[in-house]
Amino acid sequence: MIEVSNLKKSYGKLDVLKQISFTVNRNDVVAVIGPSGSGKSTMLRGLVHLEEVDGGSIQVADHYLVKDGVYSSPPQIRQITSRMGMVFQHFNLFPHLTVKENLELAPRLVKKESAAEIKSRSTDLLEKVGLIDRANAYPANLSGGQKQRVAIARALMMNPEIMLFDEPTSALDPELTGEVLQVMKKLAEEHMTMIVVTHEMGFAKEVANQVLFMDNGEMIESGSPAELFTKPKFERTKAFLNRDR
Ligand code: ATP
Ligand code: MG
Repeated sequence: MIEVSNLKKSYGKLDVLKQISFTVNRNDVVAVIGPSGSGKSTMLRGLVHLEEVDGGSIQVADHYLVKDGVYSSPPQIRQITSRMGMVFQHFNLFPHLTVKENLELAPRLVKKESAAEIKSRSTDLLEKVGLIDRANAYPANLSGGQKQRVAIARALMMNPEIMLFDEPTSALDPELTGEVLQVMKKLAEEHMTMIVVTHEMGFAKEVANQVLFMDNGEMIESGSPAELFTKPKFERTKAFLNRDR
């Protein structure tokens, strides 16, 4: 589904991504772990073209977003990135719009569907994330966990085939992380293809089928949760997992 090869990115002299390669199969739940500054967000943002990389390839299904450092045409890029939904650490909801309006804005702008279709999907998705009773609330009046569930529903409004999450629970009080992880777990059970940058090792162990460990801009190792958490091959992985304990 996604094939990343030899991805490179520098900010000036700082090499943030050093020849990153990995594969995500359809229906995979991939957890990306690694220390702060290791390049996890940059990698994820590269996949949805929020950052441009300097080299390497990103292939989604049969289409190249970038091939050997050369980007496809803007319409092709839009076509590829429209298959992906992204959820950020800090929710990024529109503060002046209600929950329902947050969900419906992008599909309305795209204008491919009737208002009734859009409305019906926003109702379904708000039910799915347990927030139908807050449809007319403004983000300021929601808890962090509720905001993040709105952000997930909003991303799902565009019918993505792949969902990317960048530390979706890191900004939340511990008692609110569970409700967000629960929604993500449900998505995984429905076989959504997901890439999740996370510090939640419990979630990675329980829900992911592949774990990627990044350190200092490098993809150090990948494996099933059982492999990576119980018998990491590299010292850097061991050190990270021990430090995290
Ligand atoms: P964290 O766990 O703290 O979110 P991360 O693994 O997501 O870290 P990135 O945010 O991808 O790491 O950052 C990787 C490196 O790139 C860091 O050293 C960071 O300071 C640097 N960096 C990120 N964005 C920029 C930018 N726009 N300009 C310059 N340096 C940047
Ligand atoms: Mg990050």
